[in-house]
Amino acid sequence: MNLVRTRMIPATAASTRRPPAVARVGASARAPDDSPANDLRPLWPPHAWRRELAAAVTDVGELLALVGVAEGAATAATDFPLRVPRPYIARMRHGDAADPLLRQVLPTAREARAVPGYSADPLGERNAAASPGILRKYAGRALVIASGACAVHCRYCFRRHFPYASHRPGAGAPELAAVRADPSVREVILSGGDPLLLTDGHFARLVAAVAAIDHVRTLRIHTRLPVVIPQRVTAALLDTLARTRLRVVVVLHFNHGNEVDDHCARAIAALGRFVLLNQSVLLRGVNDDADVLAMLSERLFDIGVLPYYLHMPDAVAGTAHFDVPETEAVAIHRRLIAVLPGYLVPRLVREIPGAEGKQPLPTAPRPPGSAG
Ligand code: SF4
Repeated sequence: MNLVRTRMIPATAASTRRPPAVARVGASARAPDDSPANDLRPLWPPHAWRRELAAAVTDVGELLALVGVAEGAATAATDFPLRVPRPYIARMRHGDAADPLLRQVLPTAREARAVPGYSADPLGERNAAASPGILRKYAGRALVIASGACAVHCRYCFRRHFPYASHRPGAGAPELAAVRADPSVREVILSGGDPLLLTDGHFARLVAAVAAIDHVRTLRIHTRLPVVIPQRVTAALLDTLARTRLRVVVVLHFNHGNEVDDHCARAIAALGRFVLLNQSVLLRGVNDDADVLAMLSERLFDIGVLPYYLHMPDAVAGTAHFDVPETEAVAIHRRLIAVLPGYLVPRLVREIPGAEGKQPLPTAPRPPGSAG
């Protein structure tokens, strides 16, 4: 039975509708397995996202022409080429070279600078591979490199140099052998690349393979696709997630409030029965400002997503120009604590290779009279 509403919108048309009503964050009420219907289904046809993916802009000159910005310091990066979907471009401010969305995707000559302390694998992920396609960084969790590709190429990406070819991304269930063999794994994280770049059928088979491992309780999906191509939230994807026995957590990746538009809101609302969290990266020239981050938190809350992590940028070769010094980051975070309710303040963290988890930065002001 096709439970999807059939009203369609053009895949690239900017919507003027207000966002739909938003489901509660982490709503625990689950539909019975035989009734995955969700009255917040998205309204796009099933292949709209693939058309958007195929139409993504890969030429710097075309991107600049679309946003009405002169070339300046932009460059055609070869090792990590430009890729940006048009629904994301539509949210950039025309004529503004400092637009925070444009800055996240536009390659510049600064990426070619060698900076001491910056390397291809600052997080030691190549040493964290339990087997091809599986990273084991933290106790109880296993990360599956489900895809070696992304819909957007974020210039600051911590995996921009990751050797995806040697991890057989997208190979399917065989890489889960390491998870099957270790009963301590309670949570499987689908990452990449972006796991939602798998087709609906491939994604459903992967989820079923994870669900078939008795000791796994939780499925976490790290994705930026609902941000850059909201049409990716298809009825088939929702059905797969609604029917699995696994508790589903979706970790989105918004960095700026301007990334939230009506299309995103609609896609996120359709995911509203799952736990929805957001992780951001603190980026120079994008969101290194407490007011900008506060606005992001409020917009996330409006669409039913809770801020989770604010990551310090990793020391990845080619990304030094995005760095924000720790003292400045702490000051920004303290300001967030001052202006937002606690549930809208993301944890400011740094990833340190070999550590037992993400390391929180000590940002709470010291009580008066305390030592140090
Ligand atoms: S979507 Fe995530 S993994 Fe892909 S380029 Fe952006 S930051 Fe990197």
